[in-house]
Amino acid sequence: MADKISVLYTEEQVNNRIREMGEQISKDYAGKSVHLVGILKGATFFTCELAKRITVPVTIDFMSVSSYGDATESSGVVKITKDLDEPLEGKNVLVVEDIVDTGNTLSYLLDNLQKRGSLSVRLCSLLNKPERRLKEVNVDYTGFVIPDAFVVGYGLDYAQKYRNLPYIGIVETD
Ligand code: 5GP
Repeated sequence: MADKISVLYTEEQVNNRIREMGEQISKDYAGKSVHLVGILKGATFFTCELAKRITVPVTIDFMSVSSYGDATESSGVVKITKDLDEPLEGKNVLVVEDIVDTGNTLSYLLDNLQKRGSLSVRLCSLLNKPERRLKEVNVDYTGFVIPDAFVVGYGLDYAQKYRNLPYIGIVETD
């Protein structure tokens, strides 16, 4: 049976917000370049859309992490399953994530990336669920603060489905 998905943010709302974030990032990095590190797979759509809205020079790399836990709950243990292709020395790194939930993934990842000799490491997340936070994470750029619900679309999946939805929706479970 098809899952029922209700729209939380329309395609237009998401695109408008990403445009604003791109403008802010372009201002903040004026005169510099920015190295986007997108976290696979959830942040792929967001990373590409954001990159198109940034007007300072941009380079892009991706990495993949897995956290041990079931599909909807992350554990505190994180493993890098695909590392970056390029070193971070001398770069202004902006980590691009789909959602910060418990903070377990990003707290591990930021710690790891901060040890690689970059000029700076900041975090940009399309969505932020602060109610669920277990580990403190400083999110420099947040698209939308959302309530505690399981969301899909714009790169976010439910059992690998719905990443391609052009909007953000909540999966209704009964
Ligand atoms: P954290 O380590 O902050 O708990 O979780 C980060 C990861 O959990 C995200 O990158 C994402 O893959 C997954 N996640 C957390 N909340 C949601 C959600 O509402 N929907 C989806 N699709 N994934 C989520």
